[in-house]
Amino acid sequence: MTTTTLALESWATGGCHCGKVRFKVWIERLAVIECNCSICLKKGFINIIAKPEHFELTQGEENLATYQFNTMVAEHRFCKTCGIHTHTRPRSHPDAYDINARCLDADITTLNITPFDGQNWEANVESIQ
Ligand SMILES: [Zn+2]
Repeated sequence: MTTTTLALESWATGGCHCGKVRFKVWIERLAVIECNCSICLKKGFINIIAKPEHFELTQGEENLATYQFNTMVAEHRFCKTCGIHTHTRPRSHPDAYDINARCLDADITTLNITPFDGQNWEANVESIQ
């Protein structure tokens, strides 16, 4: 059960379903991006883009697998045991991390959701800050 509330300018923890993969992310804004590209749509992935220094994998690197497709740029990382997709090295921000907000331990229902038209990625990618 979710007990914590996300706070701006603080570290939030999260992880996969089985608990082998754990991470923390610095919350810079109380907003997420909901993308309609082929993979985000199927996974229900909602995105928090974080600078490299704002993401830390605290446990389970050895238990992560990587899925790539199409341009083979983005690295979609998921837990080998439970299959949950925790984060990505995204194509739009290759030096950053893209975290699945649904994997956070905190309540995410208060976050503002910004839609992103990932089905027309090339035309819209500049809109992601
Ligand atoms: Zn897992």
